[in-house]
Parts: sequence; C-alpha cells; structure tokens
Amino acid sequence: MQMTRWLAAAAALATLAAPAAMAQSAAALTADATTPGDVLTYGMGYNNQRYSPLKQIDAGNVGKLVPKWSYSLNNPQGQESQPIVHEGVMYVTTHSATMAIDPLTGRQIWKSEIELPQDVFKMACCGILNRGAAIYEGKLYRVTLDAQVIALDAKTGKQLWKSKAADYQNGHAMTGAPLVANGVVMTGIAGGEYGTRGFIDGWDPATGKQLWRLYTTAAPGEKGGDTWPGDTHSKGGAPTWLTGAYDPELDLVYWGTGNGGPWNAELRKGDNLYICSVLAFRPKTGQLVWHYQFSPNDPYDYDATEVGMLVDMNVAGQPRKVLMQANRNGFFYVLDRANGKLLAANPYVKVNWADRIDLASGRPVESEVTKRVRAGGDEMVWPSVLGGKNWQPMSWNPATGLAYANTLNISWPYKLAKAEYKKGEWYLGVDFRGVDMPKDQPHGYLSAIDPLTGKSKWQMAWPGQPSMAGTLSTGGGLVFTGAATGEFMAVDAGNGKPLWQFQTGSGIIGLPVTWEHQGKQYVSITVGAGGVWALLGDERMAATPAGGSLWTFALP
Ligand code: CA
Ligand code: CA
Repeated sequence: MQMTRWLAAAAALATLAAPAAMAQSAAALTADATTPGDVLTYGMGYNNQRYSPLKQIDAGNVGKLVPKWSYSLNNPQGQESQPIVHEGVMYVTTHSATMAIDPLTGRQIWKSEIELPQDVFKMACCGILNRGAAIYEGKLYRVTLDAQVIALDAKTGKQLWKSKAADYQNGHAMTGAPLVANGVVMTGIAGGEYGTRGFIDGWDPATGKQLWRLYTTAAPGEKGGDTWPGDTHSKGGAPTWLTGAYDPELDLVYWGTGNGGPWNAELRKGDNLYICSVLAFRPKTGQLVWHYQFSPNDPYDYDATEVGMLVDMNVAGQPRKVLMQANRNGFFYVLDRANGKLLAANPYVKVNWADRIDLASGRPVESEVTKRVRAGGDEMVWPSVLGGKNWQPMSWNPATGLAYANTLNISWPYKLAKAEYKKGEWYLGVDFRGVDMPKDQPHGYLSAIDPLTGKSKWQMAWPGQPSMAGTLSTGGGLVFTGAATGEFMAVDAGNGKPLWQFQTGSGIIGLPVTWEHQGKQYVSITVGAGGVWALLGDERMAATPAGGSLWTFALP
C-alpha cells in the first residue's frame, strides 16, 4: 500500500460577436451558450455545459493547432480561472490580480492588483487561487481570499465597490467565480474544513449592498433544523465554494453545497440539512424552492459543490429538464430540475461506501464498509476525499449525449477520531492519512459518461498523474482538456483518441474555453500547477514547475 502524504499544514475590441445593444445585459448572459463570439459566464452559459457549437477546429485539422500567444500571469500559484471574453477584451483572474487582455494579441490592457493580509495564506484550505470573474453592465465582479467581493470598472480596472462577506480569520475564504442572474450578483464561501457555517450571498450589482443571505445549514427552529443535534449546525460546514447554474425560464439558481463539519459524521448525527446538497432558489430573494441531498450526514467529505450541468433531454421517452452531477461520492445523478425529483443515480467510478442509491427515497444505501467505519473501524474507502471527480467541471456534447469529465481512481484509509474546535484551524475528527493510489491501475481517466447509466462509453487513461483540469466540448466533435504535466490536449469526443497536444510549461488545472472572432475559432486556457492535487505532496509533481500563464490557440 503506497500511502501518499498530504501536507495538511499547507492546507492550495468592440468587434466581437455580441451586438452592442445586448452588451453585458441580462439578455446577453441568458444567450451566452448560443453566442460563440463571447464567453460571458462561468460554465460558458447559465446551463454550465461548457459546450460551444463552434466547429472550425475539428478532428481532421486539430493536429495543426498552434499557439497564437502566451501571457504571463506573474503568479506561481495554481491557476483555475476561467477566462471571460467580451467585446474584444479577455478578463482573467489570479488570487492577487485581475487582468484585461487583448484576446487577439495577448497584450495587457490593464491589471488591477489585490492587497491581501499576510495571515490569509495559512488559512486557505486547498490552494491559493481564484476561479474567475463575472461581467454585467460594464462591471467585473470577483471575490478575494480574505472573503470580500469587489466590483471593477471593466474598461479601466478601477475598483468601484468592495463588500466584506465574512471574517477570514474564522477560516472563511472565497475562491469561486460570482454568478449574476436576474440582476443579482451571487457568491459562495469556502471553509468547510474549519468549523464554519456555509452560506450564499446576493449583492446589489450597482452598490455592493448585501440583498440576502441563504445559510446552508438549518438552525434550530428553522425547517430542517431538527437534522442537527444541539447547535452543531453552527460549525456544520456546507460550504459553497463553486459557482451555481441558472435556468432563466424556471427562474431557479442551482448551487451545490459541501461537506459536513467536522468530517466525523458521528459527532453530528442526523441528515444535517443542507450539507452535500443542491439548493434551488430564487436569485432575487435567496428563497429556497427545493433541495436534494446527495450524501445525508456526509460520512466522507463528499462535497457536492460542483453543481453540474443543466441539460434538456429525454428520460424514459419523456422530455425532461434535468440537472446532472458527477458527485464526489462516486455516483452520477440526474434530477428533474423543476422539482428536484431523482431520475437516475449510478456509480461512474469504483464505489464501496454505499451499495446503491435508492431511487424511491433518493437516499444512499450505506455499505458494510460504512457501517464498520461508523462503528469505529479502519477501512479503505472508495472514492477518496478527492472524490470520483473533484471540483473541476465536466462538459456536455449534445451530439453524443455524453458528459466528459476527468475522473479519479483513488481510495483513502478512513478512521474516526476525536475532534476539537479551534478557531481558524482544521476541524476534522478523522485520523487523516491522505489518499491511496492503486498500484496496478491508472489513477485517473478522461471519461465519456452516459448520464443515465453512469457507464463510460470510453475512457482515456492518464499516464502518471490524473488530471484535475476541466473539459470543453465543441461542435467540432472535440474535447479539450489538460494534463497535470502541462500538455494541453484535444481528444476525439466519439472515441477518446488523443488528436493533438502542446506542452504549456506548467501543470494544467484550468478550464478551457473557445470563442470566435471574424470567422476564426480560438481556444484559451489558464496554466499553472497547484490546487488540491499539489497539496497531496505527491513526488510525481516534482517534475512539473510552477508558473501561471494564459494561452490562446488557433489554426495557422
Ligand atoms: Ca457566448
Ligand atoms: Ca471539503
């Protein structure tokens, strides 16, 4: 058994396609998935499908793809930021700056630095990073590691307002890209490992005034409050550190919540609403409409923060509006997104913590392994703390009907321990010994998953290290993604055959996007090793240098 040690202490041109009249407006955000000239939202559309109909670059010519430019982010941390492309400007973030860049030449237009208190760096659980900005009515919105939300003038980078969401010294942090929907800026919070209480905030885009807060653990007296013993909800986790999705027709925002705190589930007996759930709520008010809990009582840090994709598809012959999620707990879920009803839930990786998900009740049937863990046993549990898939988003291709995700084949040893709360420190209650890599198998795959069965039509094994990068699907029949060792790649969506790769100089954990300008298709990606994978302290990382950069590729 090769045990990998987790470093716990480290705790890582106004000429583009959108018509000027629609610039940055609510209508433009709603249309984003169908306007390939720009990338206005995290997820390349409110549906979070990360699909573009662009097909100039295809399986026949992608082998000729070349870099057009590279831009140094001047930042040695992990880079998980998704670029925004709007009216001839590309916007990208790091933990310490926001930048506007000419997307055709890579030249910097402006750079706006962020000042952070020094003690914030020992707090951020799982990487010093930022996942991107949101754009709306001439302003750019982003969050900071010290739990503030800021608005910048998109033209100049000048800061327009700044609002504090939480006290970072309690272990709260902010890393996710904001979501703007129905005229409200929404942000989540990180810190589920620190005995914090999660929430989602709504902000006035013009002034930064807080409009509402939706707490993600239910207090005594509230609906769901009886699923927590005593006041355990107050340190109960349910962080919200990624970005939600939005269905404008239903006017519902979908946002995923993370682990229960502490990890030791026996210290908070009950379902613990709303940990490890998806919440559907009204963007104007934060009013909760429905919820679905993937992992009641969350025995294993199975964050459900990556909300998944909104897809309209046939299920059992009926057209349904679904939400699909590749949950960290190893099951691939399909829900009716109008009401939260479970339609399918099947394993997409090796799972031994639960035997199955009961479709009628929507609840997992916990396995003998989990029963023994709950009784104090020491067990090897699949999947690991990293999940069947970690934070990195998947993508959807409507032509193949498959979800493309970088999945993990990793377990972890699990044994409960005592938990003691100390402000600003990890609050786990588990004998944490990192993760366990199988000896004779790949540790990760690019998987093409059938959402209704969880089975992969094909898998491309990652040699050496698994990938923690996002995926992008295109009308050209391609999947773009990146390797932990720095190769940016295009893969045939139909059969998983690698078609092209380019070494970008550091590890890739970013999110590829594609866009067009004057009839030419471009593909962009942030590069820079780090994030939760780097925290593993895996010796395999040693051969991949740090260094953040942003790349754009096109056909010659
Ligand atoms: Ca668009
Ligand atoms: Ca967690």
